[in-house]
Amino acid sequence: MREYLTTERIDPQKRLVVERVKDFNEIYEVFDKDDASSQSERCIQCGDPFCLNKCPLHNYIPQWLKSVSEKNLEFAFKLSNEPSPFPEVMGRICPHDRLCEGDCTLNDGHGAITIGSVETHITEAGFQAGLKPSFPGITTDKKVAVIGSGPAGLSVATYLLRSGIAVTMYERADRAGGLLTYGIPGFKLDKKIVNRRIELLKEAGLELVLNCEVGKDKSFEEIADTHDAMFIGVGATKAKSASLAGEQAKNVHRAMDYLTNIQRKNFGVSYDKAFDFKDLNVVVVGGGDTAMDCVRTAKREGAKSVTCLYRRDELNMPGSKKEFKNAMEEGVDFTFLASPKEIILDENSRAIAVEYVKTKLGAKDASGRQKMEEIKDSQTRINADVIIMSLGFDPAVPSFLAENGIETNAWGGIIVNEETYETTTAGVYAGGDCFRGADLVVSAALDGREAAKSIVDSLLQ
Ligand SMILES: Cc1cc2nc3c(=O)[nH]c(=O)nc-3n(C[C@H](O)[C@H](O)[C@H](O)COP(=O)(O)OP(=O)(O)OC[C@H]3O[C@@H](n4cnc5c(N)ncnc54)[C@H](O)[C@@H]3O)c2cc1C
Ligand code: SF4
Repeated sequence: MREYLTTERIDPQKRLVVERVKDFNEIYEVFDKDDASSQSERCIQCGDPFCLNKCPLHNYIPQWLKSVSEKNLEFAFKLSNEPSPFPEVMGRICPHDRLCEGDCTLNDGHGAITIGSVETHITEAGFQAGLKPSFPGITTDKKVAVIGSGPAGLSVATYLLRSGIAVTMYERADRAGGLLTYGIPGFKLDKKIVNRRIELLKEAGLELVLNCEVGKDKSFEEIADTHDAMFIGVGATKAKSASLAGEQAKNVHRAMDYLTNIQRKNFGVSYDKAFDFKDLNVVVVGGGDTAMDCVRTAKREGAKSVTCLYRRDELNMPGSKKEFKNAMEEGVDFTFLASPKEIILDENSRAIAVEYVKTKLGAKDASGRQKMEEIKDSQTRINADVIIMSLGFDPAVPSFLAENGIETNAWGGIIVNEETYETTTAGVYAGGDCFRGADLVVSAALDGREAAKSIVDSLLQ
């Protein structure tokens, strides 16, 4: 119980910068058995584990840490895979510093337990040892349709299939996974990891219909008529705009278009060549996780220079500190306290620079965030060959929602009963980013799991 005094927190090895910027492979190694065990032994098994309360899924963290420290992989695998639909994904990409590890009792100078990395180890080592999450097969006559195959859709499908309910999943893209596949780059999450889960669900009975946009290729009503319940997990990927003059120029791109096209390139399928930024000066506007994914992608794509322009300072960046540090290590330049005002165009209407004013941070507002003030007469320009706008996302609000009585709120989020996840139309449930707004994989996984519980209760009671 006092191992934390003699064993330091260690993080998994990171690949050398010079090597990792040459490819899109994951940058972190996975803990081996010995490291996972010695890091788990540091857990003091506190009576009131804050880590568990801060984990949206309420994962059985102290219990699986104990199992790993005792080298009981089979039990750890079962414990970890019960409340979580894909723990090896969350272990890799959850913002641990803000969630479980942030609230670990040892995060007071001793160094929090490396919860996320042990979580990844458990399922990776388990799969390697031939362990598999178990599914009963389709044992009921109930059938549920899931629209969207992102983490919310995959999670609801996992828990419905575990209850023996048949699931048909409709996905407009050519591959399943939502932002796990076409958003989060491979250096954070290898696509093989996502695909392995999808294959497991297919083995368990999932019927996956790709290249099928509900509302266009197939009507919502037709699906509703042939299923006992529906779950909507269509995400929120409509780019927010800064409404800057010049933003419409051809060489000003949206973050999602860039990341999706480069992922398509990495899959070896057709992509838009306008996104080849080799030898170009790239400026990314925005300071969140998506901006970090864009700057690091541009580095790997051989850009001549990559600069992130953010209107606040390093301390106030909204994204994960770990990803900012990784971007710094990989040679990304940061211009902080810079609020963009205009995209400057040349005579051919191509963007050539971003004009911004310098800012300073003042007193804290009601939310506790420092107010941003623009400094008078501080206009400055940064030259660019291409510009990527990464300012966050809103839900797209497909027309089939209103046509079927599914109400949305002022910013387009689907309104659900927060206990049951049922929308304003009986038998239709929703979760993930289309309900919360752009959020996290773990919260989409939680919504899917909880919605599945309600659907099971209503169909099998
Ligand atoms: C670049 C980027 C990086 C991120 N990095 C992280 C991270 O490191 N950690 C983290 O926790 N979170 C991260 N996030 C956030 C996280 O990815 C999302 O919160 C999460 O994916 C939301 O899951 P979802 O299932 O609600 O939606 P999505 O993942 O967006 O999936 C929705 C799916 O629905 C499909 N769809 C939409 N409309 C239709 C239709 N009409 N018919 C059929 N299919 C449809 C879409 O094609 C998509 O596949 C990141 C987000 C982005 C954009
Ligand atoms: S799901 Fe996320 S918050 Fe929960 S234990 Fe895993 S890494 Fe931590």
